[in-house]
Amino acid sequence: MQVFHENLDCEAPLQLLLFVDERPSSREQIQKVQQYLQSSQADAAPQLQIVEVGEHPYLVEHFKLVATPALVKVHPSPLQVIAGSDLVSQLDLCWSRWQRSVENFLASGTTSRPETEKNGQKQPGISSVLHSAELLRLSDEIFRLKQDKQALQEQLQFKDRIIAMLAHDLRNPLTAASIAIETLELAFNPEGEQHNRLTPALTAQLLRHARTQIRTIEQMITDILQAARGASTELHIKPEILDIGTLCKDVLEDFENRLQAKLQTLETDIPQDLPPVYADQERVRQVIANLVDNAIKYTPEQGRIQVSVLHRTTQKIQVSICDDGPGIPEVNRQRIFEENFRLQRDEAKEGFGLGLALCQRLIRAHYGRIWVGSAAGQGSCFHFTLPVYRL
Ligand code: ADP
Repeated sequence: MQVFHENLDCEAPLQLLLFVDERPSSREQIQKVQQYLQSSQADAAPQLQIVEVGEHPYLVEHFKLVATPALVKVHPSPLQVIAGSDLVSQLDLCWSRWQRSVENFLASGTTSRPETEKNGQKQPGISSVLHSAELLRLSDEIFRLKQDKQALQEQLQFKDRIIAMLAHDLRNPLTAASIAIETLELAFNPEGEQHNRLTPALTAQLLRHARTQIRTIEQMITDILQAARGASTELHIKPEILDIGTLCKDVLEDFENRLQAKLQTLETDIPQDLPPVYADQERVRQVIANLVDNAIKYTPEQGRIQVSVLHRTTQKIQVSICDDGPGIPEVNRQRIFEENFRLQRDEAKEGFGLGLALCQRLIRAHYGRIWVGSAAGQGSCFHFTLPVYRL
């Protein structure tokens, strides 16, 4: 660390560090302090080192400095700090005391390296201060690097886990589509035994089924590609092992007053034995809160809101927030997740049309899905999935 300009091997009994910043007045302060020291006619020439605070934050931290310019008497002990624009006048006030401490130090007989043990007391010199500040910086750096490494490892594990989950999930629609196509193939083979058994209605049904499954596969691939584009790092997702049931209950507590104010009832179905999910607690909290907030906002007074959590497959947990409000017309069920999109009928209500778009980004960053359906033919039912944490 190149903080000082002088050779540290020849440390003087009086060692001072002058901390300055980038302001033009700093140069003037340096000159004033240097002039004062030169004119002070001290017995032993003081050693003054200039430290630019911006370049050496660890030294600033080491001495707990709160203002610049600051002059620190590093040696002899005790350590003393003076700071402010009237540095030279303060130095003048301290000077005789500092000289006495130098005399005492010299009189005590240790004239070699100041940081040696003296009367059982450590006398820190500039070089030892320098080393401890450097150690502090390095240990901070190591701590930060360890944290970065852990975060990266977690991100990689997260991706691995999710890829395995998505690959597994793709198998279901793929198998269903293959079965439908194989059945059709057999029917269209004039030499096959089954070709007479397929009625036109059954053929049409199989074709529809295959098409639906292929659309599901397409959607899943789009989800994978979107997730792989790095949304999780972009949104600073920090996944952890999370109890989603507890989180839901926690979020719902915050809405008690609003529910009461609109005389709405809340029903929950949150099983005790849910497996943990792997997700960012604050981000998922944001999603649940957004959906519950919408349910309360768009459902009239005395309405009913239901929150349920379902262990949908071995790989996924599904959270559903349903209401018996006006619902979302089928044609708009995709568009409401777009930024700034609001249903015309709701334009008079407060809002920017951003909540659902954010929910979608957050859920996709967790490699989950979010969609809306209708609750038992009326109202809205927002669902989202999250990956289960599996060892
Ligand atoms: P905002 O609520 O700020 O308008 P959102 O992105 O949260 O933005 O919602 C977009 C639109 O979707 C809303 O303007 C509203 O028209 C509709 N919407 C959202 N949630 C519900 C719901 N639970 N019931 C009926 N309509 C809803």
